[in-house]
Amino acid sequence: MLAQISTKTDDQKPNIAVLIADLKALPESVWCDYLFNRDLLVARIGPEKRAELIAGAIKCGTDLAQETARSYGSIPASELVDQLPLQVKPEDSQTIQKQVFLATFTEPNEIKIYQEPINKLTALKLPGFDRAAITEIILAHELFHYFESQDDQFYSRTSQIELWHLGRYHHRSTVRATSEIAAMIFSWRLNDLSFSPLILDILMLYCYNPEAAHDCYQELLALARSGQGDPESDQ
Ligand SMILES: [Zn+2]
Repeated sequence: MLAQISTKTDDQKPNIAVLIADLKALPESVWCDYLFNRDLLVARIGPEKRAELIAGAIKCGTDLAQETARSYGSIPASELVDQLPLQVKPEDSQTIQKQVFLATFTEPNEIKIYQEPINKLTALKLPGFDRAAITEIILAHELFHYFESQDDQFYSRTSQIELWHLGRYHHRSTVRATSEIAAMIFSWRLNDLSFSPLILDILMLYCYNPEAAHDCYQELLALARSGQGDPESDQ
């Protein structure tokens, strides 16, 4: 989970109450399209393959949430990490190439949770977004990446697209968006949220770069209006 930093002032901030109400109302399909459109390979993927990858990623995240509940019971991510060989470390902040992270997973077993962006989020004092709730959402996302790293048969690791071929040689690549969509869905299901966990990314962007947050918000609303996603797949 990350956001681009900017040096813009507070003047360009959109009204946060309106922003959150609108974002909470967006269906799953819009958030999946939003993530997919951010993939570096998006222009190389046709509509059929795109629909297949998104559906596969949603199933991957949903199946993992169900398996987790079966194996460990319906417990929050913060208790789940205690039962797994994972190290969760609070860190101040991390900025790589002007991008701020809420959390990162590093193989084989390390989750870092960054305090500076979380402090900024809690300072917004938004109902339902206290430190505990934010941490559960973030932890669940990174937990997905942990489980994914443990199993090379995960859909996000086996699904590939062909970039080019030369004779019998086929150059294939996984699509990063499938992993991010599956992680979003896993956090969504595990936390039993009525809104997308990705709202946190937009809110973080709002803290660091309000103009960019407004752009993402407009992009999401445009996706919702265009009905690019399949409404059948919505929750
Ligand atoms: Zn991720």
